[in-house]
Amino acid sequence: MATTQFEAVPAVAADAAASRLGTVVMKFGGTSVGDPEKLKAVAGRLAAAREAGNRVVGVLSAMGHTTDELLDLAHQVSATPEPRELDMLISVGERISCALAAMAIHDLGHEAISLTGSQAGIVTDTSHTKAKIVEVRARRIHEALDKDRIVLVAGFQGVSTEQDVTTLGRGGSDMTAVVLAAALGADRCEIFTDVEGVFTADPRVVPGARKLHAVTYDEMLEMAASGAKVLQLRSVEFARNHGVTLHVRSTFAAADGTWITEEDERMLEKAMISGVTHTSEETLYRVEGVAGSQLFDELAGAGVNVDTILQTGPEIVFSAPAEDRKDVEPVLERLGVQWSAREDLGKVSVVGAGMRSHPGVAAKTFATLSGLGIEPEIVSTSPIKIACHVPGDRLEEAVAALHAAFELDRPEAERAHA
Ligand code: ADP
Ligand code: ASP
Ligand code: MG
Repeated sequence: MATTQFEAVPAVAADAAASRLGTVVMKFGGTSVGDPEKLKAVAGRLAAAREAGNRVVGVLSAMGHTTDELLDLAHQVSATPEPRELDMLISVGERISCALAAMAIHDLGHEAISLTGSQAGIVTDTSHTKAKIVEVRARRIHEALDKDRIVLVAGFQGVSTEQDVTTLGRGGSDMTAVVLAAALGADRCEIFTDVEGVFTADPRVVPGARKLHAVTYDEMLEMAASGAKVLQLRSVEFARNHGVTLHVRSTFAAADGTWITEEDERMLEKAMISGVTHTSEETLYRVEGVAGSQLFDELAGAGVNVDTILQTGPEIVFSAPAEDRKDVEPVLERLGVQWSAREDLGKVSVVGAGMRSHPGVAAKTFATLSGLGIEPEIVSTSPIKIACHVPGDRLEEAVAALHAAFELDRPEAERAHA
């Protein structure tokens, strides 16, 4: 058995009566708002979208490494920071960006208002540091848009059903943007970032990676789940379920980026593989002495996002994000099972909707790794993905070799069409 699990998605109904043509949600990531000059440039882009006649909602991330710095600060005062207080702390970064952007927009002669997640009506459950959105009450945003204001919403946060500040997990500003796009009935959701779009591999690891013109929701889900952090996994899942068209593009260039949409035959005509992704931020566990039903029920209860699961005989092998280890260990100890964990493995995945109808992808993947003398520790598949756990110190080599083997450095890989 090998599965990739995705989370359940909240039902957020679009406010049909209030949805109007011309609403655009524009999200800017941490690097894009990294210093005052960049923030002013972002203010300019938001103002230009307003001048073009759109109703504009900006969703901003915290400046640069602010979130990491705040987390570090918390760990300097406490080894196990109280989750509620952690959320109070790390939600601040996004508010700083929004307040500053609103000031810069005023100076450009436009009306703007910054809102916290709570003020924007983003209601979540009570699980601090990885809260799920349960409802959006967008009245205040609509009122501000009706007054011709550019609305800046602090990403990555909401207010719980118990009125506490919550955050949505790392990369959560993408989720804020997509959920608002659905709730406001926006025309599109634009994700501005520090690369020009979604590439055939992480451009920082494979210099010859190509920018994809279009990716299907399912491919993007698999890519996000297997390490392409350019979009947060949950945001892609939500976009798919609510039909939100996503456009990932550069903050620093005007060119089109990558469109994430429903599958269109033409997309797969030219290249059946969309990309090679990788992650080194997973822990692999081997557990014996418990039924899968009980194990995974308890892990779910502890909020652990289990990825790969393999069971052959009494041993259960599963992977989970490295950052979830603090939640996994107490469960395994409580169950009194025999277990071990490895953090020295990385995972490389080949993703592409076209592999459903083209045999031979597995053969080429194995042959390529074998050519490097790499024997994968674990191989798991979905209809559109083959993932291999390989030694962490050979990971980037494996990514580059698979990228070349599937000819992703060729122009056809971009899937551009007129
Ligand atoms: P932001 O701060 O804008 O949210 P992120 O750091 O979360 O940006 O995501 C952008 C980064 O994702 C890029 O800088 C890039 O290194 C990385 N990345 C990994 N895989 C891919 C991929 N396949 N395509 C594009 N970017 C990728
Ligand atoms: N600032 C948060 C993070 O670093 C959220 C985000 O950028 O999307 O994870
Ligand atoms: Mg991000």
